Amino acid sequence: MDGRSRRKFIASLSLLAMSGFGPGFTSIIAGCRQKAKSAPQVAPDFEPGYLRLHRGGELKARGEELWSVMESCRLCPRQCGAMRLDGNKGFCGSTSQLEIAAHHPHFGEERSLVGSGGSGTIFLANCGLRCVFCINWQISQGGAGEPRSVEDMADMMLHLQEIGCHNINVVTPTHYSPHIVLALDIAAGKGLRLPLVYNTCGWERLEILRKLDGVVDIYLPDFKYSDGEMASKYSSGADTYPELIKTALLEMHRQVGVAKPADDGLMYRGLMIRHLVMPNGVSGTKEVIDWIAENLPKNTYFNIMSQYRPMHKAFEYPEISRRLTRREYTEVVEYARQAGLTNLDIQGSPL
Ligand code: SF4
Repeated sequence: MDGRSRRKFIASLSLLAMSGFGPGFTSIIAGCRQKAKSAPQVAPDFEPGYLRLHRGGELKARGEELWSVMESCRLCPRQCGAMRLDGNKGFCGSTSQLEIAAHHPHFGEERSLVGSGGSGTIFLANCGLRCVFCINWQISQGGAGEPRSVEDMADMMLHLQEIGCHNINVVTPTHYSPHIVLALDIAAGKGLRLPLVYNTCGWERLEILRKLDGVVDIYLPDFKYSDGEMASKYSSGADTYPELIKTALLEMHRQVGVAKPADDGLMYRGLMIRHLVMPNGVSGTKEVIDWIAENLPKNTYFNIMSQYRPMHKAFEYPEISRRLTRREYTEVVEYARQAGLTNLDIQGSPL
């Protein structure tokens, strides 16, 4: 990013922070301002999964396999077929050129990811889901981001490790999964040892997730909706969301299992599900809880998020143009307890 672009980008972030909206952007700013501690903090006996694949040459091969999917792109369930390698943009807004909006220690993620040094977050530009209420819409849909090479991304990963982050947290990774795997391969060769957090909207193709088996240490997916009509209405026609997130969660769980913090309080492996409770039952929270309770272990990590705020185009939809009420939140927390879920991350009351 040159000086002018950087100033423009930081200015746009600052405006958002000052507007008082959007915990996402506000926490990005907070992350930028926080100073990470100097020493990397991972358990001495921890080895990320991708390291074994790197040693055998498999990591690079997986990255190249994923790269070839961009010929007529089917990386995400949109399967729009864009010829990204020829410079064409897909529905997500990406060609094969990697674009990154920011990278820094983030102190607003889950406690077991933040620790004392922060989660080493890399915000990738563009998105295939394109929700009307996205808190990071400037990054996901607004073109914020700068062209970067795969080597640049590897350097960012190493830098985040150097300044003391506990993991590499790739945000909205699906459309750049080939770049991430290839960058990991380079960084692993230069000493990267942090767990990889795959921070996704959850709308994933099983075929692509299988190529990430052994690459990802921590899956951090959203479970946004239980109803396809809602998914379609608020996420650009993605009516397959409920069906695909369920398949994805089963695969993620098969790969990494239940997320349990280690003795040092940090997470190194496992499935961590996030669910943003939306007003007026739009997100179908009770059905989401029922499905998890019936299909995954009861101690599956489940973060019930209360911070919904109308952003971006949400004001065009009256039913989601307000914050959550305390009653709406406490009701679903109680429901999750009654369903027998034991590993709940409960947040402060929304109001
Ligand atoms: S990742 Fe982008 S280009 Fe590829 S299928 Fe999805 S929307 Fe289309």
